[in-house]
Amino acid sequence: MNPPFSLFLKQLEGLTYQLSQPLAPYTTFKIGGPADIIVFAHNETEVLQVLKATHQTQTPLFVLGGGSNLLVSDAGIRGCVLMLKGSLAEITVNDTGHEILVGAGASFPKLTNTALKLGWKNALGFCGTPGQVGGALKMNAGTRLGEIGEVVQEVYAATLDGLKIFQKHHVQFSYRQTSFPENTIITKTRLRCENPSPLDASEFLKSAEELAKKRKATQPKWRSAGSVFKNPTPDFAGRLIEATGLKGLKIGDAEVSTTHANFIVNIKQAKAQDVFDLSQKVRQEVYRKFNILLEYEVKLVGTFINTKTENL
Ligand SMILES: Cc1cc2nc3c(=O)[nH]c(=O)nc-3n(C[C@H](O)[C@H](O)[C@H](O)COP(=O)(O)OP(=O)(O)OC[C@H]3O[C@@H](n4cnc5c(N)ncnc54)[C@H](O)[C@@H]3O)c2cc1C
Repeated sequence: MNPPFSLFLKQLEGLTYQLSQPLAPYTTFKIGGPADIIVFAHNETEVLQVLKATHQTQTPLFVLGGGSNLLVSDAGIRGCVLMLKGSLAEITVNDTGHEILVGAGASFPKLTNTALKLGWKNALGFCGTPGQVGGALKMNAGTRLGEIGEVVQEVYAATLDGLKIFQKHHVQFSYRQTSFPENTIITKTRLRCENPSPLDASEFLKSAEELAKKRKATQPKWRSAGSVFKNPTPDFAGRLIEATGLKGLKIGDAEVSTTHANFIVNIKQAKAQDVFDLSQKVRQEVYRKFNILLEYEVKLVGTFINTKTENL
C-alpha cells in the first residue's frame, strides 16, 4: 500500500468501507474489475469527509450510483469509489404533494413511482430508467415524455468548498448532460411539480405499466447499460447502427443487441474490453457509412486498450 493511500485510509475513521471489491455486482452490465476501496457514506458529513480525504491525499474519486450507465474496465477503478446510503437514500413528500425531497442514493424507479402516485405527469418520462437519483440528475435521465431536469427546484451537493445548494437556474440540463462542476457530489435534490393531478394518478400508473410492457417488447432481456450512444439529432443511433447491418455482431460475449441496435448486451461473461471493442467497431462502421461520429451516452470508467480507433 503506498503512503498516500494509507494516509487516505487513516482519514476514513468512523466510515464503512471495503477494500479490493469487484464492481461487476454494482453495475447493470455485471462487468467491471475491482475498486481499490468502496466507501459507503450515510450522510452529508461523511460525503464531505471522503471528498476532503481524497483531495488531501490525491486519491482519485468516483461516485457510483446504480451503475446503470457505466462500462467499468476489467482492471477496475483505481482509488476510491463512493456510494450513498442511509439518509442519502430517503424520499420525503411535502404536505401539498407539490414537492419531493429525495436523497441522491435513492432508487430512481422508486422516486418515479412516488411521483406518479402524486399525479406528476412528467414522471411518465422517467419510467423504465433504472439507477439512482444522483445518477439520474448527473445524466438528466428521461425520455421524450420528460426528463428529471424539468422538475428540479434545487440540488444539494458536497464540494471542496463545503455543502452547496444549486438553484435550478444554476445548472444546465440538456440531452443526457448537465453542467455540474467537477468534484461535485450530489447528495439530494428538491423536486417540484407545479400542477400535480392526484385524481389522474391511477391513469398515470396504468400508462406506466403500458410503457413497461412496451419496453419489455422492444428492449433486450440481457444485461446492458441501456443505450450505448446518444441519438445524433435528428436521427437515431439505433437506426444508423441497424442500417449499417451490425445487429447481432459479437466480440467475445458482447453482442450488438438483435432487439435494439443501440444496446450492447452481455450475453454471458463478456469482458469490458469486448464491449468497448464492439462499441468502437460500431462507431467506426457508422462513421464510414454515414459520416456521423456517434457520441457515447454510457460512461467509460477505468482504462481500455484503444485497439479499434485508428480512423476516428
Ligand atoms: C435497461 C436500461 C434502460 C435505460 N433506459 C434509460 C432511459 O430511458 N433514459 C435514460 O436517460 N437513461 C436510461 N438508461 C441509462 C441509466 O439508467 C441512466 O443514465 C441513469 O440515470 C443512471 O443512473 P445511475 O444511478 O445508474 O448512474 P451511474 O451509472 O452509477 O453513474 C452515471 C454517472 O453519474 C455519476 N453519478 C452518480 N451518482 C452521482 C452523484 N450522487 N453525484 C455526482 N455524480 C453522480 C457517475 O459518477 C457517472 O458519471 C437505461 C439503462 C438501462 C440499463
